[in-house]
Formats: sequence, C-alpha cells, structure tokens
Amino acid sequence: MGEGLALGIDIGATNFRLGLVSSDGVVLERRMEGVGRDRSARGIVSQVERCAAAVGYNGVVGVGIGVPGIVDPSCGVVYRSPHYPKWLNEPVKEMFEDTLGLPVVLDNDANMAASGEGWRGAASGMDNFIMITLGTGVGGGIVCGGRLFRGEKGFTGEIGHMVVDFDGPSCACGGRGCLETYTSASGIPNILGRLGEGDRRRIIDAAGGDVSSVTPRLLYELAKGGDPSSSLAWRWFGRYLGVGIASLVNVTGIFNIVIGGGISRAWDCFISHLEDEMKKRLYKESASFVRIVQASLLDDAGILGGANEVFKS
Ligand SMILES: [Zn+2]
Repeated sequence: MGEGLALGIDIGATNFRLGLVSSDGVVLERRMEGVGRDRSARGIVSQVERCAAAVGYNGVVGVGIGVPGIVDPSCGVVYRSPHYPKWLNEPVKEMFEDTLGLPVVLDNDANMAASGEGWRGAASGMDNFIMITLGTGVGGGIVCGGRLFRGEKGFTGEIGHMVVDFDGPSCACGGRGCLETYTSASGIPNILGRLGEGDRRRIIDAAGGDVSSVTPRLLYELAKGGDPSSSLAWRWFGRYLGVGIASLVNVTGIFNIVIGGGISRAWDCFISHLEDEMKKRLYKESASFVRIVQASLLDDAGILGGANEVFKS
C-alpha cells in the first residue's frame, strides 16, 4: 500500500487534526476541529467522518488514526482513554472502517507521533530512536529497526509512567512518582513542591496567586525574563527527565532521543540540566553515544505518523 494518498488523523483531548498526506510525506490539506459535546466513540467517529468527507476521499488508500489511551493496534480496540471516560473496550478501528469504508490503522497517539518524526521529522533516517512527548501528560514511542516497537499487546512506550520517585505524587494511572507527575503540564504543582517556600511563592504570585494557573508557558516566560525561582523549577524538571532518559537508555541501548510536545518549546530552559543528570546515571560509554534532539514536526507529527503507518501496512 505504498502509493496514493492517506488520511492521517490525530485525536487529542480537546480537538482532532486531520490531514491529507501524499506517499512522499507532504501534507496536502489539513483541518482541525474541536471535539463536540458527544465525546462517545460513536460521536467522535461521526464527527471525524464529516470532516473527512469535506476534505474528500479521492485517491485515499487508507486512514491512520492516533488516539490517546491504551490501544491494541492488532485488533484495533481502545481499552481505555484518560480523556474519554466513556470509551471502554471500544472497537474503534472497526467503527472507523465501517463508517469511512477504508482500511484503518489505529494506534496510540504518541506512537503515531514517533512514526511521523521518523518519517519526515527530526528522527528521519534513524532506525532506532525513542520519542518523548511533553504535554498535558508524557507520552512516548519506541522505534526499533525502523518500526514501532509494539511488544505483546501494543501497550508500549508508556514512558510517562516510568517511575522516577517511588514514594512520589500519585499519578492518573494509579501509581506514584511516574515521570508524568513531574515533567508535564499537569505535573507543574509537583515541580513547584520541590522548591523552597520563597521560590514557590514567587512563582505562584506571578500567576495571580493560584497554583493551577502556573503553566509551562508562564514558567518559560518568567525564566526567560531572568526570574531565578522559575529557572530552579526548570532545573528540577530537567533533572527528572534526565533520570527517566538514563533508565530508557540503560534498558534499551537506544541512543537517539527525540523530545516533542508543547513543553519542548522550553528546550533551552531544561536541556542542560537534563543532560547533566542523565550523564551521572549512565556508563561513560553510553553517555558518549546519546544524542537528544528536539522534534521538528510539531502539530503535524500525528497526521504524518498516521499516514506513514498506512503506507507501511
Ligand atoms: Zn503513572
């Protein structure tokens, strides 16, 4: 299925993106829509179908869809999705195939983003790499020998739930001290919790007195403006990420790390702390091979990954 066009669809927590992609990786047309009030799987399938019909199916050979949650790509079932509580054991691939009348490849959204970066982004040409997406949560995808590593059931690359602090803050997964509880937008309060009272207060005051208003963007702007308290927060952020990446490298022997997602825009605030912490925890030989790069596709990663998986299927 290497020719023609593919639809790549990236379903997020609040919106979805759809792109018409050529077999050489050019996004010919793209759409974005907010997810409607009916957040059932059936409701979203209908909404996506209307959007796809508006773009047109001419020459489309298949559809690649990334969804947030626990997905088995081999049977196309979404077992559970943190953002869509109504989705329980939903046969999402079958629902899309019935509605769109085209073959569908379904996977976790972070896996699709990794596939996109490997095809046309920062990991282009890399046979082995690990992609980490830093957003509301922390996602990941592992590419090994040029293909997504899917393990036994496809629940792979859950890098956000790797434990970096075993007595740490509780996580949405039911565990404690997962990487996501620190290095994501939802983990910001826990990062602030690592600061001294004065530094913490300063940052919260800058956000109007409410800890939930401290966003990664605000922390970035404060740090760029020379605020030492925010720089300390980024230091903790980078250290946790460094601990996590050192474990990934130690376990997999994969040396190319690609970091994407909205928070990766604060790259220069955390990268040196990340590298320092990571190197402390790796064999010298491994540390000399590790290459950490910023993802380059941003919002197109999921669309291109979906299309790539169609052309590869
Ligand atoms: Zn977790």
